[in-house]
Amino acid sequence: MRMHKVMEAEKLYGAQNYNPLPVVLVKGEGVHVWDDNGKQYIDMMSAYSAVSYGHSNPKLVDALAKQAGTLAVVSRAFYSDKLAAFLEYACKLVGQDKALAMNSGAEAVETAVKAARKWAYTVKGVPSDQAEIIVCEGNFHGRTTTIVSFSSEEQYKAGFGPLTPGFKMIPYGDIDALEKAITPNTAAFLMEPIQGESGIHTPPEGYLKQCAEICKQNDVLLLCDEIQTGLGRTGKILACDHEGVKPDGLMLGKALGGGLLPVSLFLSKAEVMNVFTPGDHGSTFGGSPLAASVGLAALQLLVDESLDVHARDMGEYFMDQLRALNSPLITDIRGKGLFIGLEIDPKQASARDVSLQLLEDGLLTKDTHYTVIRLCPPLTITKAQIDEAINIIKHSLKKIEKTLAA
Ligand SMILES: *Cc1c(COP(=O)(O)O)cnc(C)c1O
Repeated sequence: MRMHKVMEAEKLYGAQNYNPLPVVLVKGEGVHVWDDNGKQYIDMMSAYSAVSYGHSNPKLVDALAKQAGTLAVVSRAFYSDKLAAFLEYACKLVGQDKALAMNSGAEAVETAVKAARKWAYTVKGVPSDQAEIIVCEGNFHGRTTTIVSFSSEEQYKAGFGPLTPGFKMIPYGDIDALEKAITPNTAAFLMEPIQGESGIHTPPEGYLKQCAEICKQNDVLLLCDEIQTGLGRTGKILACDHEGVKPDGLMLGKALGGGLLPVSLFLSKAEVMNVFTPGDHGSTFGGSPLAASVGLAALQLLVDESLDVHARDMGEYFMDQLRALNSPLITDIRGKGLFIGLEIDPKQASARDVSLQLLEDGLLTKDTHYTVIRLCPPLTITKAQIDEAINIIKHSLKKIEKTLAA
């Protein structure tokens, strides 16, 4: 009853830009969340990796509370005693020279686009306003007008024109297409090491390494969007680390805010970041003492608790258990670490229907692109909790199979 009211009220006063599953969450702790009836769920969404370190992680809540009660926001009109330590730790962790703090992931991507364009004009020597950025089909980099301009998803763009020019689209995972698309005006190749929103798509082995080589040969920046894949999710600190690739620029977000507030970074080599001069770019909240303290605590937690290694081990275990289910509804199980996608046979059931059944049985997840179920729990998940999740998934799939057979 109460749940219904909240959903109605949100419909009445909120924009209808989402289509949430019918559950009202009121509490979270670790890998679990609870609804307003006290029902417990295992969270397999982790807010698209924003909650990679678990709901209300006590260490991160502590860092947040301490800093909130000391000094939270000063704007970048002044120095604070917290920003430098955060940037230094982040740069050293991922092997980049410099970092620029923003809030949302989309802002970090916008920062990368601006940096790449200005680098093209001031360092590479591309004629004014001619810089091109190559992107991939199926990409997801956020929702600003410039970013949706280079989406291959028609709905993301329809009705929001005029679109921003200067982007060129190539198929994901196709190295020849990249080579052919590069011109003397190419500033950068912007890509996700694993495409998340498009359905957890991993490119062919060696693709990233070849991209890095081709970019280097052609004086093109390789910009990797690791907003969702970064910070332990795929079993390494960065998804790029699986192929030993160090991009020229890197975007982090989501988990960087410790599941508590939006914190994002654009990191790059000095040659790129040095194109920015005072007044070129900024953000009122970006790099605030609060954001810096929580961001630093989140990175330290990742390192101190080796959550990347844990994610790798738990991911392997999870995938093995999923394969052992042998469900006729599942046509593919893919991913890396705890970044897992289940492809559901659309002739038998929609991914939305599967997610609704899982919801009823106590497991939260969501469909992406109609046929894929995301299984991306907090990286802190234990083996016993994975067993519990597997039992739920088994039960839900069996129920759907039975309904289909009837
Ligand atoms: C979520 C996401 C973004 C956008 O982040 P927001 O914080 O929602 O703006 C960009 N790139 C990737 C790969 C993402 O997964």
